[in-house]
Amino acid sequence: MACIVIKNVDKYYNELQAVRNMNFDVLDREFFVILGPSGAGKTTTLKMIAGVESISKGDIYIGERLINDIPSENRNVAMVFESYALYSHLSVFKNIAFPLFSPKRKKYSKSDIEERVRKTAQLLSIDHLLHRKPSELSGGQRQRVALGRALVCQPDVFLMDEPISHLDAKKRNQMRSELKNLKDSIDATIIYVTHDYNEALALGDRIAILHRGVIQQIGTPHEVYHNPVNRIVAESFGDPPINLFEGQLVKTDGGIYFKKNIETSLIPTALEHRDRLVPHIGKKVYAGIRSQYVIPVKEKPEDFYIPGKVFVHEILGDDGILTVSVGEDLFMISTEPNIKYSLDEDIFLTWDVNRTHYFLKDTEENILI
Ligand code: ADP
Ligand code: MG
Repeated sequence: MACIVIKNVDKYYNELQAVRNMNFDVLDREFFVILGPSGAGKTTTLKMIAGVESISKGDIYIGERLINDIPSENRNVAMVFESYALYSHLSVFKNIAFPLFSPKRKKYSKSDIEERVRKTAQLLSIDHLLHRKPSELSGGQRQRVALGRALVCQPDVFLMDEPISHLDAKKRNQMRSELKNLKDSIDATIIYVTHDYNEALALGDRIAILHRGVIQQIGTPHEVYHNPVNRIVAESFGDPPINLFEGQLVKTDGGIYFKKNIETSLIPTALEHRDRLVPHIGKKVYAGIRSQYVIPVKEKPEDFYIPGKVFVHEILGDDGILTVSVGEDLFMISTEPNIKYSLDEDIFLTWDVNRTHYFLKDTEENILI
C-alpha cells in the first residue's frame, strides 16, 4: 500500500513561502494531478515528497510511515523531471540500469538487472532501442528512457514533474495518450504535475489546483471543471478562458437578476439557483460563462443581452475566436469560423442562464457550490 498523506505542510525558502498549509491524501495507485501556473509550488511539493527538499512544517506519510526524516533513497520514490539529463556516453540500456548500481541501494545480480531493464523497456516500447545512444533518439524516445530510469527501481510512488511539456504539440498529445495507457501497467501511486489543464483533465483520477502555494480545490476532472469552488479554479480550465462579467445581483418583481454595471437588460438567473443566490442579493458578483456557451448575435435578442462591439475575429482552422469589447473589458467567445464579423460591428452577447456561475467579488467564492 502506498497512499500518500500530506498534512499541514509549509515550505519556506528564507522569507518566501512556497507552500502554505498543504493538505491532501493520494490513494494507493491513484493518478493524482497537481495543476497550477509557473511558481505555484508544484515542483517544491514533489521535492518534499521525494526527500530532496526539507519540509518547514507539517508531516508527510507514505503508507503508514512518517517520512519527514527518512532519507530520499529509503523512501522508494522515483521522480522524473522535465529536464531529464540522460548520460550521453551510455547506451539506453545503461541509462535505464543506472539507478540499480547506486551504492545506496541493495546489490542486484546481473540477470536481475537484465530482466528489470528489459521489462521496463518493453513497458515503454523502447526495447528495440537498448543499444542506441541518447543522441540517436527522438525527444519522445529520450523522455521514455527517462521514465524507464525512474521505473526500473519499481517505486511505490512515482512523481512526474511536467514530463512532457517541452515536447512539440503533436508529440505531447501522443505521449499524453501513452501515459494514460501506461498508468494501468505501472504498479505505483502517481503524482503528476503540470501547468496544462488539458493534461490534467485527460490524465487525472483527481486534480488538485494549486495557486501561490495554496490548494484551491481537489476533485475529479468533472468536479473541478463543472463545479469550481472559486474564480481561480474556474479560470484554470478552458481556452479561451471563462468570461467573467462584473455586476450585481438584484431582486425585481420577485425574480433574481444579474445586472452588469453598464447599461444592459436585466439578466435572469436560473430558477434552480434561486435559493443559493437569495442571501447575496445586492452584492457585487462576477457572472462566469465559459466561452463556448456565450452566444454572439447580430440582432438584438428579445430577452436579455450584454451589448458589445467586435474587437477582432480570429479563424483558427475549424474554430474561431471572437473577441468582443464591452466597455473597458474584452471577452473571448468560441465561434463558427464561417460567420463573418467586421471590426466595431455591434454584437449582443447572450447565453443559457443554467450555465452561469456566480462568484462573489470580494472573496471570489462560487455562490452556487
Ligand atoms: P512551480 O514548480 O509550480 O513552477 P516551484 O515549486 O518551482 O513552482 O516554486 C515555487 C516558488 O518557490 C517560486 O516562487 C520559486 O521562485 C520559489 N523557489 C523554488 N525553488 C527555490 C529555491 N531553491 N530557493 C528559493 N526559492 C525557490
Ligand atoms: Mg516546476
